[in-house]
Amino acid sequence: MSLAERLVRQIAIAGPMSVAAYMTACLHDPAEGYYATRPRLGADGDFITAPLVSQMFGELIGLWAVDIWRRIGAPRRVRVIELGPGGGALMSDALRAARAAPGFLDAAEIWLLEASAPLRALQACALQGRGSRVRWISQLDDLPPSETPIVLIANEFLDCLPIHQWVRTRAGWAERRIGLTSEGEIAFVLAAPNRGSGPARGALDASEGSVAENSPELARLGARIGELLVAVGGAALFIDYAKEGGDFGDTLQAVRGHARESPLAHPGEADVTCHADFDAFTAAARSAGATTTAIRTQGDFLRALGVEARAARLTAAHPDRAEVIARQLDRLIAQDQMGGLFKVVCVHAPGVSASGF
Ligand code: SAH
Repeated sequence: MSLAERLVRQIAIAGPMSVAAYMTACLHDPAEGYYATRPRLGADGDFITAPLVSQMFGELIGLWAVDIWRRIGAPRRVRVIELGPGGGALMSDALRAARAAPGFLDAAEIWLLEASAPLRALQACALQGRGSRVRWISQLDDLPPSETPIVLIANEFLDCLPIHQWVRTRAGWAERRIGLTSEGEIAFVLAAPNRGSGPARGALDASEGSVAENSPELARLGARIGELLVAVGGAALFIDYAKEGGDFGDTLQAVRGHARESPLAHPGEADVTCHADFDAFTAAARSAGATTTAIRTQGDFLRALGVEARAARLTAAHPDRAEVIARQLDRLIAQDQMGGLFKVVCVHAPGVSASGF
């Protein structure tokens, strides 16, 4: 039975499910979930990410990680953690660039947090011969307790964390759920508004029909990372499709074969994501005692790290690829492309500072 058929059956028996439960099934159902069974990243897959656009992205983040390590006193051991490494390109490029700082590679323990078995296999291939020992975990709490400081990176990870959606009605906030039409097709439905439940923020002055989103999972992760950084030191970098300022609006989206489609169209066959709420995430990290930087665009961040100089050096080394490199650079930093669409924020232990902000 397909995931769509199983969901229809489950909803018929148990009633409508939250958007969060639906996202989790679409992405991680063991038999049919997108990441669990058929993730296809890259130009001939479903979607492309910054590390797949150009090696410059991972290289600069590798140098950023080295810089953090130096700023915290170049400790003898450092945990380099990546959340949701996809095909492993970012970490592979980062570790190659970090060879310029040999002490860092000797100190680095690589930890990859990854739910998907097929992607773990790709990551193992991509990192073979990178010279550092690589270990996998399924959640942060699987990290063995240690005092070792942390440098954590995550590109397009937070947008996979499940959200709840709410619609403002005359009678209050109603949860938007996944139910069935009278013909038995999967469709969005509204639960009865319930005083006491609703999105945590911006609840009062929304106009009728506004959609609000919240993610307990995102807030939990923000708090956990804040706590960890306060305990052991270091910094964590997040790059994502993000919203700021408690914006209202429906950001649930699905992408398959590089085209947008309804998140309800093909459960398990498309990447279903949302725009990560950086404000809620950083607020949770701060409530755990960590410090957070201002939120910047990816374009500003990469420029501050010297991406243009890096592109010029690459072009000098490969003049035949000048046009390709220029196009890749534009895609990474232009305001109307990834450069403006993606936002960057750093969570760090108090007293640490990070370059690029
Ligand atoms: N960072 C990569 C891939 C982004 S796709 C890149 O930039 O190319 C999202 C990644 O997060 C995938 O590796 C996916 O399997 C992983 N992922 C999504 N939800 C997860 C979860 N709840 N736990 C662990 N990994 C998850």
